[in-house]
Amino acid sequence: MTRSGFGFDLHPLVAGRPLVLGGVTVPSEVGLDGHSDADVLSHAVAEALLGALALGDLGRHFPDTDPRWRGISSLLLLGHVVELVRGRGGSLVNVDATVLAQAPRLAPHLPEMAKRLSDVLGIPVERVSVKAKSPEGLGLVGRREGMAAMAVVSVEVRE
Ligand code: MG
Repeated sequence: MTRSGFGFDLHPLVAGRPLVLGGVTVPSEVGLDGHSDADVLSHAVAEALLGALALGDLGRHFPDTDPRWRGISSLLLLGHVVELVRGRGGSLVNVDATVLAQAPRLAPHLPEMAKRLSDVLGIPVERVSVKAKSPEGLGLVGRREGMAAMAVVSVEVRE
């Protein structure tokens, strides 16, 4: 059967941190704050993968109380989740993700994000969609207090 999974993540923007999205460091004066590199896009994709197999959320698998995950690249966390899904007999079909960000402009970086994610996910880049959406100044993302990401995945599983 084919199972779908949905993932959502949100992190605050602060000065003095790199802005890492989909494993790509995007030039920016502010970056996302969090225990790991706070890559909202990779986190949303990982949450979606876990969701497809009803395996809980990222916090359950990588608690922020565990010093092993401090400052870690979220692509590594995503890689762990991919292994978990494979271990359960799951085969990822595709990913569709959207990053919600007021600034900087992400469009020039989206192909590289899709490439990095596809490498970790082990599927062709043609099956990884990464989009960016501006909130047009509205809400906490519009005020540049944070960035959010959403992702859906399809996973084939033999039952
Ligand atoms: Mg997160």
